[in-house]
Amino acid sequence: MELHVQDMINWFDKINEKVQANKEYLTSLDQAIGDGDHGINMARGFQETVNKLSAQDYANAADVLKDAAMTLMSKVGGASGPLFGTIFLKMSMAVKGNDMIDHETFSRGLEEAVNGVKQRGKASEGEKTLVDVWSRMAVHFQQETDFDAEKVTEAAKNAMEETKDMMATKGRAAYFKERSIGHIDPGSASSYYIFDALANTIEG
Ligand code: ADP
Ligand code: MG
Ligand code: MG
Repeated sequence: MELHVQDMINWFDKINEKVQANKEYLTSLDQAIGDGDHGINMARGFQETVNKLSAQDYANAADVLKDAAMTLMSKVGGASGPLFGTIFLKMSMAVKGNDMIDHETFSRGLEEAVNGVKQRGKASEGEKTLVDVWSRMAVHFQQETDFDAEKVTEAAKNAMEETKDMMATKGRAAYFKERSIGHIDPGSASSYYIFDALANTIEG
């Protein structure tokens, strides 16, 4: 299967629905090992994103991703805005020129996104950040040959849950040192919603 322009817009609508519905939960995760604003940051960022996307007509998926990236970068105060912005911007650049995004193209986009966000956050795997979910998903997509909603959700959920036992060494959570262990990373939880929303988009 392939993702078309309207699928990409639907993806962001579904992300926004999940983020709004789980705003309090995301904030509670960030209260434990951060400054308690992650739910607010995500809710604002993705609401602004869907507002932007619904106000315009798009000819290709890359432009949808680019506008989403720009909106997240400019509207979200805090570390997560520029990081998610980088993810969608790198994805946009990687899929540019494709009318439809097939599994292979999406996989390439994910790989670029992971490289970009690691560079931007100076983070690598195992540091209890959203990199842990995105990196795992890039590997997942490389191993699969077509979109499979159930597998996507499962892989993202596992990756998110694995951040619980990690000790944070990047971002605000790093100040909590050993006390960061035992809590799910807020940015990884948001990332899980992004992939769960992708799964819903695939299911149609
Ligand atoms: P802030 O920490 O500025 O308040 P948020 O609360 O919105 O921003 O986002 C925090 C999330 O951002 C963390 O849970 C983590 O996943 C991610 N994060 C923070 N710093 C980094 C980094 N250097 N690299 C990758 N991800 C990071
Ligand atoms: Mg925060
Ligand atoms: Mg903050």
